[in-house]
Amino acid sequence: MNPTHKDFWFLPLGGCGEIGMNLNLYGHAGQWLMVDCGITFEKTAAGIGNRVEMADPLFISSRHQSLAGIIATHAHEDHIGALAHLWDQFRCPIYTTAFTRQVLVRKLRQKGIDAPIITVEDGETLSLGPFEVRWIPITHSTPETNALLITTAAGSVLHTADWKIDMAPVVGEAIDAGHYSRLAARGIDAIVCDSTNANYSGSSVSESELFSGLLEAVKGSEGRVVLACFASNVARLQTLGNVALVANRYVGLLGRSLHNMVSCAKASGYLRDNFRPVDNEDLAYLLPSELMAIATGSQGEMNAALHRLAMDNHPDISLQAGDHVIFSAKTIPGNEADVERLLKAFESRHIRVTHASHLPEGQSPLHASGHPCADELLQMYRWVKPRIAIPVHGEREHMRCNAAIAKAAGVPFQLQGINGDLFDLVKGTVKRKSAPVGRLWLDERKGVLEKVPAA
Ligand SMILES: [Zn+2]
Ligand SMILES: [Zn+2]
Repeated sequence: MNPTHKDFWFLPLGGCGEIGMNLNLYGHAGQWLMVDCGITFEKTAAGIGNRVEMADPLFISSRHQSLAGIIATHAHEDHIGALAHLWDQFRCPIYTTAFTRQVLVRKLRQKGIDAPIITVEDGETLSLGPFEVRWIPITHSTPETNALLITTAAGSVLHTADWKIDMAPVVGEAIDAGHYSRLAARGIDAIVCDSTNANYSGSSVSESELFSGLLEAVKGSEGRVVLACFASNVARLQTLGNVALVANRYVGLLGRSLHNMVSCAKASGYLRDNFRPVDNEDLAYLLPSELMAIATGSQGEMNAALHRLAMDNHPDISLQAGDHVIFSAKTIPGNEADVERLLKAFESRHIRVTHASHLPEGQSPLHASGHPCADELLQMYRWVKPRIAIPVHGEREHMRCNAAIAKAAGVPFQLQGINGDLFDLVKGTVKRKSAPVGRLWLDERKGVLEKVPAA
């Protein structure tokens, strides 16, 4: 299967028909371009903890000589997490922006991989083989996320990556509608678009709307406060830093990924000087009313900081009755039971818990999703006016909702398919089961990748 100079193909190997482990390919003139290479955390059959899984890259690793490059759109695990495990099978340059580079380099170095990473500026255009790629800044829940305008002699596509419309994202610039409406003026064939929240009506909450609710929750606490959030959400960390200043509390960081993300963020010029966490060994000396700790583990992950706080075996601090744990995060589907166990463990010790997903009517939001709801999708389709819409980054139901929104917005063709299907961006057709697909899982004890047997 080899695309000619008249072809322009989209071929997802992961992340289409599921949320997680994105691996997208574009094909033209005998060459391929990879966009993202991520992991997913899958519950083990034994029910103890999660294991790392990723798309089986066989289709592209067996023709890696024709891979023109790999692009990492942003720093989330479901987009970059598999590169450290799979890059040896590709051996080609990785293109990404400075913050994502910081996060990625650490992962690659840990595995002793010295992959060439080329830093790209927001708005830059590069020619990678027969593909011309323009990075277009888009707002999401981690810094420097970029949509990609990929142009070939046979056609053009906007690959949105993960996004939302945020007019005040706290970190980085507001989304610029002009970038997108100008694409309509030049004419564009297809859009490959995030479907995660397509089944929700309305619009996502802006990051900047969270300060007041979080401040209120922290100010209403007498003892220690622990804030649980996703480490890669640098804007949320900045908001929490601002809350701590106003509430007269010191910030502590509990969890290795938080320390990593804070240093990646600072190295890329994010997090203002007022974000100055206290050393972990000093946290125990603070009065309860002086501490606001930010912690990892909002999904109930075993051995993450929050889990250890719940079990009262965290090395740095011990929570007591009357302390307050605030979840500034949603529960990812599949993790409900683990999170419930965590909440029960805190509550049995009379530690107060507030969860962003279970707020009383009328209370200010404590979490903002990084993905577009129905109105935002509608807006994007009206800006870009593509000929073809291809929903990805969702389960079938999310993608079906996204296709219906594209139709309502007047996009003439909507193509629905799953991993392994070949989307012909010139003809506007889908050829089912065109490439082998499957999953690999990481056996961390042996340090090897194993095939996941097909269900
Ligand atoms: Zn994603
Ligand atoms: Zn993302």
